[in-house]
Amino acid sequence: MSDCLFCKIAAGQIPSSKVYEDETVYAFYDIDPQAPAHFLVIPKAHIASVAEITPENATVVAHIFAVIAKVTHNLGLESYRVVSNIGEQAGQSVSHLHFHVLGGRDMTWPPG
Ligand code: 5GP
Ligand code: ZN
Repeated sequence: MSDCLFCKIAAGQIPSSKVYEDETVYAFYDIDPQAPAHFLVIPKAHIASVAEITPENATVVAHIFAVIAKVTHNLGLESYRVVSNIGEQAGQSVSHLHFHVLGGRDMTWPPG
């Protein structure tokens, strides 16, 4: 999608601090970290949010979680939280599917 911030980041058109990359997935540190470790994992193909996941495009989501398991292991993160905000009320500010991975501090529940 031509005017999507995360499509541009995944394509390398906007600089980011890369954590992991392969053919279908890109992971990079959040510009405004909410924990000592805070990175985002996105599909390279544009999907607007979890609400747009279908049987046809869902394969990448399983891959994203395998990437999260691998990257957190490599970073030495044993405990962490995975979050995806869907829609304005939940706090989604970028309309390209992304999973926040947060760790390195105590977490509270329920989230705000
Ligand atoms: P959301 O608010 O949609 O759940 O998450 C979007 C996240 O993207 C936010 O945590 C925000 O800090 C991050 N973000 C927004 N713009 C950029 C950017 O240009 N670069 C990076 N690395 N992160 C960004
Ligand atoms: Zn996009």
